[in-house]
Amino acid sequence: MKCTIIPEKCIACGLCQLAAPEVFDYTDDGIVRFIHTDSLHQEVTEKLQSGVTTAYKKCPTRAILME
Ligand code: SF4
Repeated sequence: MKCTIIPEKCIACGLCQLAAPEVFDYTDDGIVRFIHTDSLHQEVTEKLQSGVTTAYKKCPTRAILME
């Protein structure tokens, strides 16, 4: 599964890191980024899919996409 983030849509609510702390991090302004890469796209291992799916569902602005 591939996850994409759209920082321009992020409102810094913090929900995604609660759901998947191994995947999501924030800039100093609280805007979403991935922990391990500056890329806006990341392959998600099977182990982390549940948390990322929860983040995808909870993100209020659809700043997280899955494909
Ligand atoms: S859940 Fe969505 S709006 Fe909230 S911090 Fe994460 S990406 Fe940003």
